[in-house]
Amino acid sequence: MVGIGDDAAVVATSGDAVITTDMLMEGVDFEPGTDPRRVGRKSLAVNLSDLAAMAAEPVTAFAAVALPRSGGRAIAEQLYEGLLALAEEFQITLAGGDTNSWNGPLVISVTAVGRVTTRGPLLRSGARPGDVLLVTGELGGSILGHHFDFQPRVREALWLHAAAELHAGIDVSDGLTLDLARLLAASGCGAVLDLDQIPVSDAARQLAADRADGISAREHALSDGEDFELVIAAPPAEADRLLAAAPPVRLTRIGHCVARPGLWQAARDGNWEPLLPHGYEHQLS
Ligand SMILES: [Mg+2]
Repeated sequence: MVGIGDDAAVVATSGDAVITTDMLMEGVDFEPGTDPRRVGRKSLAVNLSDLAAMAAEPVTAFAAVALPRSGGRAIAEQLYEGLLALAEEFQITLAGGDTNSWNGPLVISVTAVGRVTTRGPLLRSGARPGDVLLVTGELGGSILGHHFDFQPRVREALWLHAAAELHAGIDVSDGLTLDLARLLAASGCGAVLDLDQIPVSDAARQLAADRADGISAREHALSDGEDFELVIAAPPAEADRLLAAAPPVRLTRIGHCVARPGLWQAARDGNWEPLLPHGYEHQLS
């Protein structure tokens, strides 16, 4: 209702708001010298991905920026160019924020606000033993460029949430196995993955070939961060319905939830072998 230009924004609210925030820091989340347009786009895209993970419709966003003093004006213009182009694509407004300068590197923090649909929010905690695990798109190798250019799965999440009864969801920001382990921990169950079914991206194959360090394309798919695909847990009949219903994105059955806690892989002999969650974790001391 009231956006940039007053002391605070005024947002019309009805029903539950879903709010998420994410910060990108030069030298940590992107290399110095990265095109600020890409940084601006990504700063909003990662937040939209979190709204997608909750199956919420994006409404508005706020951006707080710390600009380096030197060249800050040009950086700001390009940063907002990238951010606003994505905002327009998802038909949301940038309703406010804060722009500062300092003798430090570029930092941008975006907060996005969404609203739940009549189905309510999709949480991490609703998965049950027997649920089928589905993943959108293809995984791995995002470092080759996808981590900037990915399309947040907002429309896909809303489609899936409307088409079927989903039990739980999360977006893959830090790595499939790591994020899935978080969903399982929140749900109080475990999962068995069928590793042959993991959708491996071309980028993961290229990365494995380029690096030739013994890490396979599939291992990249299992543990690389910033794929920003969705992992969904759904009852078997609902998952079948989704897979048969021509979803607007590649949707793959990668395993199922079990009562036994932990993450497992199905071995050829039918036994379960432990699968260690692996991915990107921020280091704190
Ligand atoms: Mg997330």
